[in-house]
Amino acid sequence: MAQETMSFQAEVKQLLHLMIHSLYSNKEIFLRELISNASDAADKLRFEAIENAALYENDPTLRIRVSFDKAARTITLDDNGIGMSRDEAVSNLGTIARSGTKEFFGKLSGDQQKDAALIGQFGVGFYSGFIVADRITVETRRAGLPASEGVRWESAGEGDFAVETIERAARGTTITLHLRPEEDELLSSYRLKSIIQKYSDHVALPILMQKEEWDAEKSEMVAKDEDETVNQASALWTRAKNDITDEQYQQFYQHLAHDHENPLAWTHNRVEGRSEYTQLLYVPARAPFDMLNRDHRSGLKLYVKRVFIMDEAEQLLPSYLRFVKGVVDSSDLPLNVSREILQESRDVKAIREGVTKRTLSMLEELANAEDDAGKDKYKTFWNEFGQVLKEGVGEDSANRERVAKLVRFASTHTDTAEQNVALADYVARMKPEQTKIYYVTADTLQAAKNSPHLEVFRKKGVEVLLLTDRVDEWMLSYLNEFDGKPLASVARGDLDLGALNDEEKEAQEKVGEELKPLVERMKEALKDKAKDVRLTFRLTDSPSCLVADDGDMSGYLQRMLKAAGQNAPAAQPILEVNPEHALVKGLHAENADFADWCHLLFDQALLAEGGSLDDPASFVKRTNALLLARAG
Ligand code: ADP
Ligand code: MG
Repeated sequence: MAQETMSFQAEVKQLLHLMIHSLYSNKEIFLRELISNASDAADKLRFEAIENAALYENDPTLRIRVSFDKAARTITLDDNGIGMSRDEAVSNLGTIARSGTKEFFGKLSGDQQKDAALIGQFGVGFYSGFIVADRITVETRRAGLPASEGVRWESAGEGDFAVETIERAARGTTITLHLRPEEDELLSSYRLKSIIQKYSDHVALPILMQKEEWDAEKSEMVAKDEDETVNQASALWTRAKNDITDEQYQQFYQHLAHDHENPLAWTHNRVEGRSEYTQLLYVPARAPFDMLNRDHRSGLKLYVKRVFIMDEAEQLLPSYLRFVKGVVDSSDLPLNVSREILQESRDVKAIREGVTKRTLSMLEELANAEDDAGKDKYKTFWNEFGQVLKEGVGEDSANRERVAKLVRFASTHTDTAEQNVALADYVARMKPEQTKIYYVTADTLQAAKNSPHLEVFRKKGVEVLLLTDRVDEWMLSYLNEFDGKPLASVARGDLDLGALNDEEKEAQEKVGEELKPLVERMKEALKDKAKDVRLTFRLTDSPSCLVADDGDMSGYLQRMLKAAGQNAPAAQPILEVNPEHALVKGLHAENADFADWCHLLFDQALLAEGGSLDDPASFVKRTNALLLARAG
């Protein structure tokens, strides 16, 4: 087929432009990315060859060769992996097929530094070659296709690329980078080797370069006629822990996660027994842009006996641990395992349990660190991934207690906005006569802190956890108690402060008796709005508040569901009034404006907890009438 010129997908153009300008200081990564693609291509060939050994043709030893040509000013990477057909080249090297691409581009700010970090997370891949090259030529042939179906792809990394069909005997892909004018320093064996050793040492595929030796006569390095392997070329996770340096673990992470930051923690071990596998798991230091999306791809790669099987093996990890990156290499699973088989396999179940336990231990270790650096790490972890981990309280009933211990909250007893109070901290600070763990939920921290429901707790010095994340109510519906102490919303049910309130009880009961008729009349006046009206001693400064009846959904949760477009069963709240407040003391059932006052107390309470009025106009009218009456 003749040469054809095609346009890059709009997102590719945008990415190319950004990358060349913002990743320049990190330009060495192009080699890591291209080697990683060659290694993927080798993995894919090995995998397809399980069913069809003929794909190896006469060239079964997989490798990648890196070379350079000083005169032509090119660097060339040549692999004998799976290769690409013409259609594959057009779509793989002309578009970005990744999910979340739109979302990603929406997040770019124009601030180079911030965007560079984002691009790093997104994974720059093949296009990173254009950081150092102003023209890239790719020649490739897919394994199994005839030599006449080779492809040449070429682009200057601007608007378009050209493809043509060529004759190509060799299976696999050859990528030639025509360097930009200022990149000559890369044309050195020493330089390329050191980049490879820095970023790609752990790549399981041998990386070959032409051997060079010192020639004393000429007093320079001279290329020999043989190749040498310049990387370790063994899968990192198969090596003994003692033989692996922290730096190697970190480099491997960066390769795996396409992240240029180091991970917060990792764990590496081999599990023997009923199910045998090796796991190397990492906790990243930063959440990717689409972390909260439950469709976010899992970061685990599955290998079987060192053969790569699949990326994003979500069956190996519960959804609430989707931030974990790493490798699981099983000795038991069949090589031709599919996602469907994975779903049913007992080995997979065992692996999933093992990976979960390991990850939780790793997080516990971070959480229990005594030193400042360790504490900071858990803080970082919590800020980045806390909301996701909270899902585990609901999702993972087997490990609920363990996950709950890892959760951190904002609280009335810390003055930062940070979530840094563990349930165990709370329990340790509980008053001797206190039996419950109290919390309040609201849309914002400010609203939570100012909630009228907190007044009595403040007065008595009782700590209340401040919950403002969307998942909180859902999470708490799975967490009835911690360490034997029930969790109680300050805005739900009858406030039973238990022994905290003993001294005042008698006096309160007396007031209750006296005001009974008044409360009955209020109930009558508000029968369309309130499920019940009762006196409360939980307030000190506010005249009234709303509470949800036991078993009813809280007002906050009802509003959240409504905002999410879901039908929340509408449960009427209970109005509680503070008999010690002047507004309540001034209520007289026989006055003409009694009903107006009742409505005002209700509407105020609804506003104070962040609710919205069904009929704001009536509220304003009523309030003005009452104000005018007072003024007059
Ligand atoms: P990613 O590796 O994350 O998929 P890249 O931009 O690095 O993204 O590569 C895009 C795609 O191009 C790859 O998924 C692969 O299909 C194809 N590709 C790139 N390099 C090679 C190669 N050396 N051999 C075969 N296919 C390749
Ligand atoms: Mg890639």
